[in-house]
Amino acid sequence: MSPINPHRPFTPDPELDSLRPARTGNQINGINEAEIRNPSVVYWAENPDDIEFGEVQKWFYRQEPDDPNSELMKERRLRQEILRQPLPPIAPEQVSLDSHQWTAALDRFVSSGDCERVGVARMRSEWLYENKKTDFINVVMLGVQHDYEKLKSAPDRVAGTDVTRQYGRAAAAAKKIAGWLREQGWDAEPVTGPMATKLLMIPPALECGFGELGKHGSLINPEFGSAFRLGAVLTDAPFELTPKREFGIDDFCSRCRVCENACPPFAITDEKQMVRGVEKWYVDFDKCIPFFAATSGCAICIAVCPWSLPEVGFKLETKLARRAERLKINES
Ligand code: SF4
Ligand code: SF4
Repeated sequence: MSPINPHRPFTPDPELDSLRPARTGNQINGINEAEIRNPSVVYWAENPDDIEFGEVQKWFYRQEPDDPNSELMKERRLRQEILRQPLPPIAPEQVSLDSHQWTAALDRFVSSGDCERVGVARMRSEWLYENKKTDFINVVMLGVQHDYEKLKSAPDRVAGTDVTRQYGRAAAAAKKIAGWLREQGWDAEPVTGPMATKLLMIPPALECGFGELGKHGSLINPEFGSAFRLGAVLTDAPFELTPKREFGIDDFCSRCRVCENACPPFAITDEKQMVRGVEKWYVDFDKCIPFFAATSGCAICIAVCPWSLPEVGFKLETKLARRAERLKINES
C-alpha cells in the first residue's frame, strides 16, 4: 500500500488552469515523437511572451511573497545581480596547456568551493533549443549542491529559496569559469539556469559522468543524489573530456516508487516514455506544473529520493555494485 500523501488530493488553481495554452506542455516537449529534434522552450523562457506557457510562467512569479525582504526575494535579486555582472574581455594571447593541465585548472573551482562538481562534454547540436546556434565545441558542466536540511522541507518555500540560492551559485560559478577562460585568451559563454536560454543541461551532464536520469526526471549521482543544480560554460578551450558513468541507478528506479508516491499531482509514472526520439523517464509536465507553480518550485521528488539523503548515495552505490558483481558471477 502507498504511504499517505499529505498533499493529495491536489486541485489545480482554476485561475492557473484558465491560462493553459491550446497545446499541452507534453506536446511541446515532444511526447510520443519518434524522431530526434531540438527541444522547444516549454517554460522558463527569458521573455514569457515568447512561449505558449508564458501566462502560466507569469502566474508562477505572481505567487511570490508580499515581503520584498523575504529570503526568496533576496536570493532572486542576488541572482539577477550576478547575471548582470559583465564578463572580462578575451585576452589577445591564448594560454597553451595540455588537456590534463586544463582539467586540473578546472578542478580548482571545486576545491575553492565555487561549485561541487565539474566535467566536460563534446558539444552536440541536439542539446540546443530550436533556433539556437553555437560554434563552441566543448561544454563545461558544473554542479552545485543543495543544503539538504533546507531541501527536505519541500514543498515549503524554504526549499524553493534554496533552489533559487543554488541557481545563483551555479550562475556565479559559470560566470567565474567563463571569465577565467576569457582571461586565458579562450572565448567562453556562460549558460545559467533555470531560464532556458540556450541548451538543455541534463544531456551534457549525463555525458560527462554527472549521474543517471532518475524516474523523477532529474539527475541522480551517488554523492549528491538529486540534491544539486547545474550550470554550463561553452568554450573551445581544449579540455580533456570527462567519461560517462553508470551506477545502476536506472535499474534502481525501475524497482523504486518513492517519488511516484510522493508527487501530489501524480506526474511521475513507472514507465519510460518516447520523447523526441529517445525513450526515457519523463515527468508529465501538464500534471506537474500546477503544483510546481503554486508552491514556488515544489522539489518534493528530488527531496524524497533516497539517493538525496546525506550519506545514503554512496552506500546504495556500493550495494548496487555488489549486486551487479553477484549477477555477473551467477551468469558465468
Ligand atoms: S525516488 Fe526512487 S524511483 Fe524516484 S528517482 Fe529516486 S530512486 Fe528513482
Ligand atoms: S516537482 Fe513536479 S514531479 Fe516533482 S513532486 Fe513536485 S509536482 Fe511532482
